[in-house]
Amino acid sequence: MSDLETLSWGHGFFDRFPLDESRAPGSRQVSGAFGSLVDPTPVARPSLVGWSQSFSKHFGLSRPDDASVGLRVLAGNQVLPGMKPLAACYGGHQFGHWAGQLGDGRAISLGEAPDLKGNLWEFQLKGAGPTPYSRRADGRAVLRSSIREFICSEAMFHLGVPTTRALSVVSTGEPVVRDMFYDGHPKEEPGAIVCRVSPSFLRFGNFQIFAARGETQLLRTLVDETMNRFFPELSTESPAREAEWFRIICERTAVLMGEWMRVGFVHGVMNTDNMSILGLTIDYGPYGWLDDYDPSWTPNTTDLPGRRYCYGRQPAIGLWNLTRLAEALLTLVPEQKDLFEESLASFQGVFQKVFLRSQAQKLGLKELDLERDEFLIVELDRLLTESQADMTLFYRELATGFSIETAERSALPDFLPEVFYAGLTADLTAAWTRWFQVYADRLRSEGQSPENRLEMMNAVNPLYVPRNYLVQEAIESAEVGDFSKVEELLAVLESPYVFRENRESYAKKRPDWARSKPGCSTLSCSS
Ligand code: AMP
Ligand code: MG
Repeated sequence: MSDLETLSWGHGFFDRFPLDESRAPGSRQVSGAFGSLVDPTPVARPSLVGWSQSFSKHFGLSRPDDASVGLRVLAGNQVLPGMKPLAACYGGHQFGHWAGQLGDGRAISLGEAPDLKGNLWEFQLKGAGPTPYSRRADGRAVLRSSIREFICSEAMFHLGVPTTRALSVVSTGEPVVRDMFYDGHPKEEPGAIVCRVSPSFLRFGNFQIFAARGETQLLRTLVDETMNRFFPELSTESPAREAEWFRIICERTAVLMGEWMRVGFVHGVMNTDNMSILGLTIDYGPYGWLDDYDPSWTPNTTDLPGRRYCYGRQPAIGLWNLTRLAEALLTLVPEQKDLFEESLASFQGVFQKVFLRSQAQKLGLKELDLERDEFLIVELDRLLTESQADMTLFYRELATGFSIETAERSALPDFLPEVFYAGLTADLTAAWTRWFQVYADRLRSEGQSPENRLEMMNAVNPLYVPRNYLVQEAIESAEVGDFSKVEELLAVLESPYVFRENRESYAKKRPDWARSKPGCSTLSCSS
């Protein structure tokens, strides 16, 4: 086992670009550069709050103790030879409007290092102090948000959803002032730093900023380097290589949207600066998980008036964001406009295919057809919403608690009222009975064995997800110095599809007290 010190650190990708090396203090507009060299700001008393064993083993890293070099690095108190700390410059559309330069205001990339298989990963500290992109903010992050990012990014990986990873969360021993609901009540909170890791943290916004500024040469280099390094499947011979690449980005984004819908994840801030060019879930902020199924639900209080980023709109917003990316890339290759438009036009179809396949599996069916199975799909959506069904528990119970014979007796499965947050009215009872009959007919027509169906369903319907209130409980313990619940929760989330004894408390409906409690139902961007 080794320490971060023994990894072989480099910064090859960034060296392909002009960088802002001025190290001038303060926030500013940075042009003509991929990003700015900036050192993390040391913190007073770092202490390890969470460590991802499952991720660290890819590098053979052992858990750092409080006196180790590893911990100093994770806290931003030491930079290792070979690292070249950098904050990237990017722009973005926020809530539908071009916001100009944003950039890594509190994330600092330390460098890249190979895992034991030789794959390169970029290591980033989030909350490690100000950068030229911090604008009026402090470059820091609070413990609650850092734990949320740490737990959820690891949980997503184990759910099989494309995501950036997290290695550690470290408390800084320094307070950070936040006005959690922007209502004039700022308060001191414990500060923390997440070390997150990904093949790349490139966002749509990295490309947009160069296009917006007319920095064509930089955009050209970024596009070429990104295609060469991260998309080896692209042929170097292709006459319209950028369009081919864009088609892959569209596909990956469609897959990602389908995966979020499958597990009930709501990102909450799908601004174009929070969209990964690799199709990964990135920037865990005021995200949330559906407890009671509701396509219009958004966890982000800032998003409440318009619900732009609610669960049900995520695929459409994915397409909107891709359209903005296309506009940026087309400044470079205007002659490929038709091909880019073809990819955008086929996004809906690609997403639908992904959605139908995953929805079929969620129901234990070999296939779903949009026309033939319209009732099954659309009515289920309505019934889950109106019954306020717990999305996670509904699908798990459906796998074990439903049989064709129940439907033949015109009875409802016993589990049904148990997984609802709303009462079962007479209308809903009649509608569910009808739905289960149609469902039973479809199962019968496929002639699958109950065992096969169970296996198929439990492979895509998780039992344990990072429910908002579970994460909040781990946060509240950590805020009073007990860090044990963070890794306990993580351990459960590392096998989300497999039932385990003694884990009942992690697979329960949201308790009443959590229904409208801040952190459990609503969050703000203040983190
Ligand atoms: P987000 O909505 O969290 O993705 O952040 C949008 C922009 O604000 C990004 O450029 C962030 O780097 C920046 N930002 C958010 N919080 C802070 C902070 N505490 N200090 C500096 N920059 C921040
Ligand atoms: Mg962001």
